[in-house]
Amino acid sequence: MNIILLGPPGAGKGTQARRLVDERGFVQLSTGDMLRAARKSGTEMGLIVADVMDRGELVTDEIVIGLIREQLDLKPDVPGFIFDGFPRTLAQADALEDLLNGMGRPLGAVIEMRVDDDALVARVTGRFTCASCGAVYHDTNHPTEQEGVCDECGGTEFTRREDDTEEALRRRLMEYYKKTSPLIGYYYAKGMLSTVDGLAEITAVARAIADLVGDASSDRSAARAL
Ligand code: AMP
Repeated sequence: MNIILLGPPGAGKGTQARRLVDERGFVQLSTGDMLRAARKSGTEMGLIVADVMDRGELVTDEIVIGLIREQLDLKPDVPGFIFDGFPRTLAQADALEDLLNGMGRPLGAVIEMRVDDDALVARVTGRFTCASCGAVYHDTNHPTEQEGVCDECGGTEFTRREDDTEEALRRRLMEYYKKTSPLIGYYYAKGMLSTVDGLAEITAVARAIADLVGDASSDRSAARAL
């Protein structure tokens, strides 16, 4: 079962992907995380993408498709992949379809997380992450229970993303509407799109996604049984 979480920056894709990892043993493939890791370790590719990412623009299809291909090759036997922040262009969507079909493990569902833009600014600008385990928090909506200590791993170091400023977010949103939102129509036309309300409580969104994932896997077994 392979799933795409589709939505603008701050829609909650990463948070929901992490829950699917914890609860179902799926593997999260976040191109944003991969690119940030490449920057941090100072690889040549990391240096190339740094400015583009800070400006809130998209890096080239070639780079991100290469990253995804590498990960799919490394982990052929997992229960499923959750694509978080990928694909973001039609070229990436086509490449993903070819890669998954080539593995004999086609896409199961595309879940759009819908949120309005005003909510995104507040969400993104207050966001911080545990440097040890990656748990995501928010200054007002979801602070740590004990100030300065991660609820999940007890870590005491937190990071904020360079591109989580209001200015960069505006550019990331523009990129989303120009290049990524056409994927909503694309997957709708393929009969694969479902939508959840990304503004609902985290657990309510998780429940809605779990229902869709359950439905999509039972559709697949029904199709196999026919
Ligand atoms: P994210 O963590 O998904 O918000 O991604 C952070 C930044 O990484 C984006 O603003 C882009 O600059 C870059 N990026 C991540 N995924 C992609 C992708 N699929 N295509 C192009 N650029 C990407």
